[in-house]
Amino acid sequence: MPSRKFADGEVVMGRWPGSVLYYEVQVTSYDDVAHLYTVKYKDGTELALKESDIRSQSSFKHRKSQSSSSSPSRRSSSRSRSRSRSPGRPAKGRRRSASQSREHKDDKKKTIQETSLALPVLKPSENNTKRYNGEPESTEKNDTSCIVLEQKLKPDLEIKHVLEQYSLRSRKDDKKKEDIYSEKKTFVAVKPIEKVPSKTKELEFGGRIGTFTLILLLPATVLYLLLMCKQDDPSLLNFPPLPALESLWEGRVFVVFLLWFFLQAVFYLLPIGKVVEGLPLSSGRKLQYRINGFYAFIFTAAAIGVLLYFQFELHYLYDHFMQFAVSAAAFSLALSIYLYARSLKAPEEELAPGGNSGYFIYDFFTGHELNPRIGNFDLKYFCELRPGLIGWVVINLAMLLAEMKIHNLSVPSLSMVLVNSFQLLYVVDALWNEEAVLTTMDITHDGFGFMLAFGDLVWVPFVYSLQAFYLVGHPTTITWPVAAAITVLNCIGYYIFRSANSQKNNFRRNPADPKLANLKFIPTATGKGLLVTGWWGFVRHPNYLGDIIMALAWSLPCGFNHILPYFYVIYFICLLVHREARDEHHCKQKYGLAWERYCQRVPYRIFPYIY
Ligand code: NDP
Repeated sequence: MPSRKFADGEVVMGRWPGSVLYYEVQVTSYDDVAHLYTVKYKDGTELALKESDIRSQSSFKHRKSQSSSSSPSRRSSSRSRSRSRSPGRPAKGRRRSASQSREHKDDKKKTIQETSLALPVLKPSENNTKRYNGEPESTEKNDTSCIVLEQKLKPDLEIKHVLEQYSLRSRKDDKKKEDIYSEKKTFVAVKPIEKVPSKTKELEFGGRIGTFTLILLLPATVLYLLLMCKQDDPSLLNFPPLPALESLWEGRVFVVFLLWFFLQAVFYLLPIGKVVEGLPLSSGRKLQYRINGFYAFIFTAAAIGVLLYFQFELHYLYDHFMQFAVSAAAFSLALSIYLYARSLKAPEEELAPGGNSGYFIYDFFTGHELNPRIGNFDLKYFCELRPGLIGWVVINLAMLLAEMKIHNLSVPSLSMVLVNSFQLLYVVDALWNEEAVLTTMDITHDGFGFMLAFGDLVWVPFVYSLQAFYLVGHPTTITWPVAAAITVLNCIGYYIFRSANSQKNNFRRNPADPKLANLKFIPTATGKGLLVTGWWGFVRHPNYLGDIIMALAWSLPCGFNHILPYFYVIYFICLLVHREARDEHHCKQKYGLAWERYCQRVPYRIFPYIY
């Protein structure tokens, strides 16, 4: 039995993502593993389609000859037809008489059939854009991503409804009368072509030299920052003396670090919390993830509570801070070596889109394998939110206790309370919304290599806790009104950050969510939409804006004596500006002209009217 129905080079009719329209396409290749055809539309757009989204041209001709009787579209009620999202759909709110309405319906049938049958070029875009939503007409020709420039989510629900009606006749019941408009499931079958395994050609982070430099520079920066923080005068030019090498390592500290890491791994493995699916991989497969980060946090809090109850001196962490950082760095280096070694045996389709250059140093840094797993244990997902992020909160608490002990305080300083509270909120939020991490770049695009291993296990816990570490050695007094103002700033940042992330996450998970019905989006050739109203219509990365505002609020309680506690916000702006540029680049590749159109509609990247 042949494993594929259509041959390379064959001209067939391919379903257009998110629509009931079929266009003439040419089969360019077939993926035996994923059972997906790569097809090329006439405008050059390439998509991966399931076999059920493809029809032979002859079946369309056949349909034309018997169209008066067999099309479910003809059998379906006029209501469902008139509400469909075909390019012939009139503007919302336009009123018609009954006869006009009938005429219109007939016109639309014709439009759909003609589009399906002929369609040499994707024409509907030009004339219908304005009628749909009052947007200016598209100027690009053959821009398949702009068949409908922008529309409310409601029509999606409508089209779903229409398709459901068409689906009443199952293929099994009436194989002969199988209809081109019938299968609702084909909606999800269309996926972007991200045939990842091909070699990474565009190197980021300065290529091989850049990544090599970063591998040395990142640990050196952590060392420098921590040494600076210990100084009485941590001015920029007041370089700290280098410590003796042997003072940086202590076996007991390393064991404590390992215990911590494996304790978190045990929490991760507990069969509590729901299991959800991640976004589809390039093969179309979806991985499963257990969502129990928040439980892990609660268990950790309970464990710390028990330790404190039994008089365990948590400021041991403060006393050995540098050694803990070195232990974490050594562990992340070993983990990165393991990750790279195992990635050499990973199947091609499991490699990361950005970490498959063939250059050892580059792939080692950016991560060669996308989702390394030991059984069901997802190493990247685990490291992303557990040992480092929860560790950050524990370190902050240790700093708070160290401050009280060293300065003989009965209560911690207001500055320390603010820093601890703000960062606790950030971590709890991340764990509470753990599912949202599944749609982030780290999970969907970046491989797991030195960059994320070091970032998750060293950079986050030891650099992000810099303000608390600074405050232990450099007490800072702030007044209540100042504290209130900083709190308001943090709340504003948090509100923007959380609502922007939730909006996008909900939209990606369920674009038809009624809660998002008031939002508009630009459809793209991949079938996914780009929000152009709400937070994502304000700037192109509203979540970054919120994050940066919060970062500033975390530094302000440390006063203005030194720039050191502001390292985080300065670094974070650089990180997010760079990350934003990377994401723009990926989105441009993914969405082409639709992305350009989005950029025209939403001109600012992060900071409104500035950048
Ligand atoms: P984002 O959550 O910003 O996701 C970017 C992706 O969103 C794009 O690739 C695109 O993916 C999708 N997208 C872009 N524009 C739109 C739109 N208009 N409508 C719908 N979807 C759109 O990426 P990150 O992973 O960088 O950030 C996640 C969060 O993590 C942010 O809040 C960030 O601030 C935070 N962060 C924190 C760091 C820290 O160290 N504290 C470090 C890095 C990030 P697609 O279309 O494929 O879905």
